[in-house]
Amino acid sequence: MYTDGLKIASSSNKELWVLGFTLLDLPMKIRFSQSNFVYLAMWYSEFKPPWQIFSNEMNKQLNDGIKIENIFHDFKVLQVNADMPARAIVLNCKQCGYTPCLRCDVVGTRTGNLIQLSNRETLKATASSYQNLLKQSLSDEQRKTDEQNSVKGKSAFDQILRIPECITGDIMHSGYYGPLKNDFAEILKIKSVRKAFDESIEK
Ligand SMILES: [Zn+2]
Repeated sequence: MYTDGLKIASSSNKELWVLGFTLLDLPMKIRFSQSNFVYLAMWYSEFKPPWQIFSNEMNKQLNDGIKIENIFHDFKVLQVNADMPARAIVLNCKQCGYTPCLRCDVVGTRTGNLIQLSNRETLKATASSYQNLLKQSLSDEQRKTDEQNSVKGKSAFDQILRIPECITGDIMHSGYYGPLKNDFAEILKIKSVRKAFDESIEK
């Protein structure tokens, strides 16, 4: 499953969102061609996509399987391939804060304006640890107080996704937005380094 959104006009706040599938049974050569991407839903609005209005029918269709030219095909959704903002909408989870990761139990600590996340000593999330977080998120009392729960509620696609195993990484919004980006910004503050960098790129 793939999803992402983009602004199609800089003068408007509206975004176009797509959600669809790449079929892994297709040979590599044609798997990623545009005509083989299966669109499920599109959304164009200044509001983020409420995927639950599409998901009931889709969950059922995928779980029941599809008959094409008298051949029955069953489906399994293996992965959600999306950046962190898009993934947060599909999975109904947070994308930042103290618990930005649904794949492990990392909890950040606040230092001034920053939330620091230790990448050591975290436990991998499992289906049952996810279910526990989901249960907590559905209880009103917990929701008001629990900053440390990455789950906001049920995912619109919980009938077809194996959460958290289906979640893939987004290195741009995690790794590169973190220490790498900070280090790079610091390095480029030095005028001579910045100049040398620009020159070598131009070459
Ligand atoms: Zn993690």
